[in-house]
Amino acid sequence: MARYVYDFAQGGRDMAGLLGGKGSNLAEMTRLGLPVPPGFVITTEACRAFLATGGEPEGMLREVSEHLSTVEVAAGRRLGQRDDPLLLSVRSGARFSMPGMMETILDIGLNDDSVLGLAKVSGSERFAWDSYRRLIQMFGSTVMGVDPALFERSIALLKDLRGAPDDVHLDAADLAQLVETYKNIIHLETGDHFPQSPAEQLRRAVLAVFQSWNGERARLYRRREHIPDDLGTAVTVQCMVFGNLGPDSGSGVAFTRDPATGRPGLYGDYLPNAQGEDVVAGIRNTVPLAELERLDPHSYARLCEHMRTLERHYRDLCDIEFTIERGRLWMLQTRVGKRTAEAAFAIAAELADEGLITPDESLARVSGEGLARLMFPRFDAAATGDPLAHGLPASPGAAVGAAVFDSAEAVRRAAVGENVVLVRQETTPDDLPGMIAAQAVLTSRGGKTSHAAVVARGMGKVCVCGAEELSVDIEARCFTAPDGTVVEEGTVISVDGSVGAVYPGPVPLVDSAVMRFLESGAGDAGSARAVDAVARALARADTVRRLEVRANADTPEDAARARRFGAQGIGLCRTEHMFLGERRKLVEEMILAGTDGARDRALAALLPLQREDFSGILEAMDGLPVTIRLLDPPLHEFLPDRTELAVRIAAAEARGDLPAAHDIELLSAVNRMHEENPMLGLRGVRLGLVVPGLVAMQVRAIGEAVAERTRAGGSPRAEIMVPLVGDVRELRIVREEVERVLGEVSAASGVPVSCPVGTMIELPRAALTADRIAAEAEFFSFGTNDLTQTTWGFSRDDVEAEFFSAYLDKGVFPVSPFETLDRDGVGRLVEIAVAEGRATRPDLKIGVCGEHGGDPDSVHFFHAAGLDYVSCSPFRVPVARLEAGRAALEETDVSDSR
Ligand code: ADP
Ligand code: MG
Ligand code: MG
Repeated sequence: MARYVYDFAQGGRDMAGLLGGKGSNLAEMTRLGLPVPPGFVITTEACRAFLATGGEPEGMLREVSEHLSTVEVAAGRRLGQRDDPLLLSVRSGARFSMPGMMETILDIGLNDDSVLGLAKVSGSERFAWDSYRRLIQMFGSTVMGVDPALFERSIALLKDLRGAPDDVHLDAADLAQLVETYKNIIHLETGDHFPQSPAEQLRRAVLAVFQSWNGERARLYRRREHIPDDLGTAVTVQCMVFGNLGPDSGSGVAFTRDPATGRPGLYGDYLPNAQGEDVVAGIRNTVPLAELERLDPHSYARLCEHMRTLERHYRDLCDIEFTIERGRLWMLQTRVGKRTAEAAFAIAAELADEGLITPDESLARVSGEGLARLMFPRFDAAATGDPLAHGLPASPGAAVGAAVFDSAEAVRRAAVGENVVLVRQETTPDDLPGMIAAQAVLTSRGGKTSHAAVVARGMGKVCVCGAEELSVDIEARCFTAPDGTVVEEGTVISVDGSVGAVYPGPVPLVDSAVMRFLESGAGDAGSARAVDAVARALARADTVRRLEVRANADTPEDAARARRFGAQGIGLCRTEHMFLGERRKLVEEMILAGTDGARDRALAALLPLQREDFSGILEAMDGLPVTIRLLDPPLHEFLPDRTELAVRIAAAEARGDLPAAHDIELLSAVNRMHEENPMLGLRGVRLGLVVPGLVAMQVRAIGEAVAERTRAGGSPRAEIMVPLVGDVRELRIVREEVERVLGEVSAASGVPVSCPVGTMIELPRAALTADRIAAEAEFFSFGTNDLTQTTWGFSRDDVEAEFFSAYLDKGVFPVSPFETLDRDGVGRLVEIAVAEGRATRPDLKIGVCGEHGGDPDSVHFFHAAGLDYVSCSPFRVPVARLEAGRAALEETDVSDSR
């Protein structure tokens, strides 16, 4: 029979799948001997069973009451006992942290009787009524579905009435009155009464936490973070400890290092005389953790000690929640903490220096996505001018957008492509859609551990919080800066999350320190830590990776940049850009040519231009392979637009003029070449087979460029790549042509020129006949963009806007297959082609040149599939290097202990 409940002492950190992150880490802390209030965990399995059937799984309640008895014996009190009630918290906690996205209910066990008992034993009536009103408020909204705003409105009203600046200034009688009000609200709203039975409270709270797994904001958060929907949440049931027992009590959150920069040293916020939920909610302003050293030196010292223990034990940055009850410290939560990209790199490097982790573990703990974030531009310090206001630098980066004052407006504007900054006093989980839509989040209240800060950091979104100098008026949809400037909704502002400043208007951007380092190899003093850490991670990745990294580049400038970024060659040099601009005329002539002579003349004019293009790129990549793809797109892409031409001709006729003969000729060519599905039409290798002289011209240009570079003392390594091959015979025909032309070039130039000839694998038929194709190909390069289109049978341009969001919503794909390779379908074709291609030709060189070459998850797949290289845009080259290194570590199983 399934077992649904575990005591803290029976669990551990390796049980996160079953006990959730929170539950398993509480168990781990218990085992480490840290002061954790006793409790137990109901498993995610129970939640899954509940969500599947809508009823409690068989036996669960019995197990709960057994474990409860154990806790009651240990505490010497019973749940809800009249004269001295044991109170419980019922907490959500899934495998992956979803901060604030699900429900937690505190102070379970209070009722009209036990509140009096609690008042007596604690010696504080105010405390007892405060706890009771908190329970009713949380239970009412979470379990009974009452709009939480109704409770908030009545406490706000009461504070106004009493002239109380915050809830601490309400006294016992006020709070007792509030309890009555709250109970009435519940009755009015639901027709039901707040349950007086502690056992019923517990049972309903547990089920409500299960249910909160499927709450709207939890679902949205999971989609955004790619957390599977079927994991379920565990429920932690734990004895309450009280931070709201007076000034010698309080609650706080803390990090073992600064989660924004990675700097070592305790870091956090503390709120005297409060329960934990007040800290994150930003209801009152917290004090920095350092202040606790003054308020309660004893607890502070113990906290420091426990945090050192945790960091050494987890060998990573930990964050914690703690409560001090009348001078006694309790640990309520820990986990390996979320951090910014900058902090991730800095911490990984420092922990390795401290000997806590190995260099390989250090590499495993950073990510290509993080590196990409550090490569984003920053504001130009010389151009910022005076800030409107300062706040806390909660999540770094530079963002420019129109100020908006609520989530819905952010979503509305972002949907039509506007960049927005979400401005709030503080954010709540309900603001999640707006935070996702915005470029940055700006709040006037809350510390670096407030909801806005934690969630923004998790998303890698720019955030400045606690900008108290700003007065934010949500109703009037504006904020006022200290100098009197009023910023209305829609006004563009710039937010610098790295220093914590807000500027009027758009501030120009410059390269980040990491980017400057990658471009030049030089860092600068201010960001030396992050730059140094990035340099070390990349160096480590380069030592361990097996995949080579090349770049997709079509110009000498891109090739040179890619090389600075560490590219080991060009995996895709497209030639179509070389047919645009001024050269379009020549391409037109080639297409319209009525005679062989006319066509040859056009091709001959294109030849020297192409040769120059190739020569420049080969020079920039001297000594490294450059894979040049023969012309791929349909020819009509080089002709004028059909409708435009028709209109021009019609207009001329309407004026009574004779339309230009050239226009008429063009239109008839355009009509002749019109295709219903150009993606599946006359393109790729098919062009080479039907347009006489085209392949020969391109190959001659490549051959002559190679000869020229060789004569100039270089080592050009051009490779010729044939696109869109579906059958080996297509490739054979082109290959013979290539050999013939290169033979002529060699003879004419006196330089022996030979280039490897290979093909793209971008049609399912090519993948499925790879054994035959490999007989004619010296290399394969997966064109995963087209291969994705042709495998799924949809054209990216047509479908992405049309139905991808519905597919993502309905969970058909967890992520777009154009972003991350679809392993099951497209990946399967890749595996077949690799295996069968190598069976024919064991030394077949295999790479990938679609956009997936720079996507971290896909890079891991290509490594596992045994490819030789990935090729991606120059800016993704460092990302691919890093991820190729991490992929190699996965193979040798350097366990990242998280
Ligand atoms: P979240 O996952 O949203 O952080 P938690 O389960 O951690 O939710 O609980 C919310 C708040 O309640 C936290 O601030 C926590 O410190 C506080 N809390 C939870 N359990 C207890 C307890 N047993 N005693 C006192 N405070 C608690
Ligand atoms: Mg928590
Ligand atoms: Mg293609």
